[in-house]
Amino acid sequence: MAGRLMAGGAARGGCREGGGVMAGGGGAALLGPVPGVPSCPHGPALLFVKTGQETPEGRRFYACSACRDRKDCNFFQWEDEKVSETRLAAREEYNRTHQPPRTHGQNVERYKEFVLLPLSKRRFCQECQQLLLPAEWEKHSDHQLLCGISAAQLRSPSQLLYPLENKKTNAQYLFADRSCQFLLDLILDLGFRRVLSVGTPRLHEMIQSKASQEDDFRVRSLLLDIDFRYSQFYTEDEFCHYNMFNHHFFGGEAARETCRKFLCQDNGERVIMVTDPPFGGLVEALASSFKKLMAMWKESEAEDQDNQEMPMFWIFPYFFETRILEFFPSFRMMDYQVDYDNHALYKHGKTGRRQSPVRIFTNITPSRIVLPVEEGYRFCAVCERYVSSGNQHCEMCNSCTSKDGRRWKHCVLCKKCVKPSWFHCNNCNCCALQNHACEKPDAGCFVCGKAGHKRSACPSLSCA
Ligand code: SAH
Ligand code: ZN
Ligand code: ZN
Ligand code: ZN
Ligand code: ZN
Repeated sequence: MAGRLMAGGAARGGCREGGGVMAGGGGAALLGPVPGVPSCPHGPALLFVKTGQETPEGRRFYACSACRDRKDCNFFQWEDEKVSETRLAAREEYNRTHQPPRTHGQNVERYKEFVLLPLSKRRFCQECQQLLLPAEWEKHSDHQLLCGISAAQLRSPSQLLYPLENKKTNAQYLFADRSCQFLLDLILDLGFRRVLSVGTPRLHEMIQSKASQEDDFRVRSLLLDIDFRYSQFYTEDEFCHYNMFNHHFFGGEAARETCRKFLCQDNGERVIMVTDPPFGGLVEALASSFKKLMAMWKESEAEDQDNQEMPMFWIFPYFFETRILEFFPSFRMMDYQVDYDNHALYKHGKTGRRQSPVRIFTNITPSRIVLPVEEGYRFCAVCERYVSSGNQHCEMCNSCTSKDGRRWKHCVLCKKCVKPSWFHCNNCNCCALQNHACEKPDAGCFVCGKAGHKRSACPSLSCA
């Protein structure tokens, strides 16, 4: 069985999982919405390359951009496959019928009706994840309902909706309040007025909720997310149904225009994009979409800011640093550890704090990203950035080298700092875990790109 796939063109450090699916095909991988690229219900498919014993050079095929599990979307087509007119028509019909039952506009109308109801008539179906109007109660009579939905609950849909945790598609991990508040304070301190929230519903709701309650709160947010449930709570100016793996706006040209206007308002000044994508790979596809969002912003630019990039926070695990910097060389990784509410690994434990591997990558000057001193972060004057308390400045490397927050140690043979649990192995001629297997498997890990283990055993994921 072949392992799951990676977008073509990923090249270095790409996926070598399972049966060996490997990148190739250069920039051809992410064609985007050009004629000829087949679509599934999630918009234009991505081109992948599959190598096997019979086809070591690889065979290219299209698959769903958003769902890495065939159970969620089984779209598949060989690149060179001839698809008959009948099948094309059937596919179009399938894509049409596999859209949400109601449009965003219809959901907005329903919301308007809903808020006019007295508290006693405001019900939410937990099974259908839907606000109900009285005429619909009957149909949901044997479902679990929440009654008396308050204005406060409507302002916090991420608390009302259950997180879609299915790892391979939504991977919805919500910020712990502490982290969300930190991000918002940082955004305010940096003077931003508009936030493009891409896959950050909780940050979006914190902003929109304050904006609706505090007169002097001037920040606004536009949420871009594939989770259509949010269209029940936000207007078309607050939420766009969007796929960040192929830059697809499900709402078509009107939704794209909403996003463009949001970015370009006030000459594109004081706007930042914040994104927290699912961690399951496809960095290349994400980067390609984010560059398109940056380009949308660039259209607005005044002439004097020629070489500027739209400010961005990309929230992602530290072991993707190399991959992200490949696509965004201007980005730096911050030491701040982002915590989540519903992630078993990445949240505060009962016994003190488990270290989260999730960080902020940004193109904003690092010294401007002030991290909370009360949580142990301190400023390193040499590195000109805030670092975690355990991150010691190494005289040999001349930088604060820890990636995971623990104190790293310098290896004179490797000429760099390594994890505290590593030792120099003369066999491998590099540092590794003491009990590592010396002979190197030929393939690298999908997550960290390093040799010696597969994704399932990646030490990065378990914070070893
Ligand atoms: N920490 C964030 C949530 C991050 S979880 C917060 O608390 O606000 C990842 C988010 O990305 C989820 O909201 C999920 O619905 C969204 N998402 C997953 N796949 C996506 C895709 N293909 N396109 C757009 N959004 C996606
Ligand atoms: Zn129901
Ligand atoms: Zn060092
Ligand atoms: Zn070493
Ligand atoms: Zn690994």
